[in-house]
Amino acid sequence: MVKNNLRISGIAIIVCVMVIAIYMKGHNDGETGNDNNLPIGQANAELTPVEWSRTKPYPKQEVYYPGTEELAADEMRVIACGTGMPQPRLKQAAACFLVELGNGDKFIFDMGEGSFERIMALGIPLDQLDKVFLGHLHLDHAGDFPAFYFTGPVNNRLTPLRLWGPSGVKPEWGTKTWAAKMQEQWAWEKAGRGSAVDPRGLALEVNEFDWMAVNKVIYDERGVTIRTLPAIHLDQSVSFLLDWNGLRFAFSSDTLPNKWWREHATDADLSIHECFIPPQMMMERYGMSPSEAVYVGTQGHTAAQAFGKIMSLTKPKHAVCYHFQNDFDTQIIVAEEIRKTYDGPLDLAIDFMTWNVTKDGIHTRMAVPNHESFPAPPQMTKQPPDSMTAYKWTDFSLSGVEPESAAVTNALIDEFNKRNGTDVKPGLTGLPFMDKK
Ligand SMILES: [Zn+2]
Ligand SMILES: [Zn+2]
Repeated sequence: MVKNNLRISGIAIIVCVMVIAIYMKGHNDGETGNDNNLPIGQANAELTPVEWSRTKPYPKQEVYYPGTEELAADEMRVIACGTGMPQPRLKQAAACFLVELGNGDKFIFDMGEGSFERIMALGIPLDQLDKVFLGHLHLDHAGDFPAFYFTGPVNNRLTPLRLWGPSGVKPEWGTKTWAAKMQEQWAWEKAGRGSAVDPRGLALEVNEFDWMAVNKVIYDERGVTIRTLPAIHLDQSVSFLLDWNGLRFAFSSDTLPNKWWREHATDADLSIHECFIPPQMMMERYGMSPSEAVYVGTQGHTAAQAFGKIMSLTKPKHAVCYHFQNDFDTQIIVAEEIRKTYDGPLDLAIDFMTWNVTKDGIHTRMAVPNHESFPAPPQMTKQPPDSMTAYKWTDFSLSGVEPESAAVTNALIDEFNKRNGTDVKPGLTGLPFMDKK
């Protein structure tokens, strides 16, 4: 009995020492402000117990404040910048996912309507967002690319933009022609506003690849490989697999579950695949006819039950469905449908959902975006526009400047010059007075 008591005391002492050690670890991390960013897997073990300071930052946030957390060297972070439909809504932009890696690389997959403002709300300098992969050229996956490209330099992007996208069934339907026509379509934007910005940000590198290529590497830099898979969504649509540091991110863009995804999108850590609300609901919510609802919801896209099936077949560590209006009532229905065919880890994506991915696991949180964002500061010294004088106003516009308002504006510019020690000359508003001289 005595012997037993001694043994129990010994165990108790060891446990006490361990608890103190764990406590000290948590406490010391608190001193350096690191304890709200513990590697996944250790979080539970090391955070108990924690002494919370009355004056220091709250040690554990179950949200992600963009720009406040350093990525570990072996960590991936994915942020949903668009999870919705072609039908515009405040709550959900159309398709867009941002992938950030611990080596500093960042990739954008799809840029549907509304996604540009979500990206800006993360406060990331646009120079760091220079790689965009488009799964297909529908507006809900590519609609914000022109805005991102043309107004990037206005928002302090001083480096070229790089684009990857599929070829077309006809050459004129492919990404290369699309990008060239986009430049033509926005010729006036480029001539006018483009003449007033750093010219480097308007350079565009277009990488078109074969839409039928299976598991082909289309990007291989700095230890990151990105492969393309054919998708079944009309034609000339693709899905992507990103591999880095033993982590795999799979993104379907739009597709029916297909044999290429089944064969190659296996072993993904994070697998993001489209999924629709049931046809019955599509009739009710979108006013579709029965044939429209069935065609759009099960043939052009992946029905929720079919999403569950392809996830069961490919077994990702964590599955994410997107591409439906995710509300309190639709999400219950979609989850019920998916659970008929899949019982693994699952998130129903909503804009700003954030995933931290490491070899130890996946941690889902919501990001808290900045609703009042300004562009992040430029990352290098701005180059003067090389064509500022290339844009010539017509005499018609020049003749229309209102002189008394122009005088007020010119006084404002004088005041500005005095305050800043500069000598900026008024352009248009100087003209009526220049004419008089
Ligand atoms: Zn589509
Ligand atoms: Zn779509």
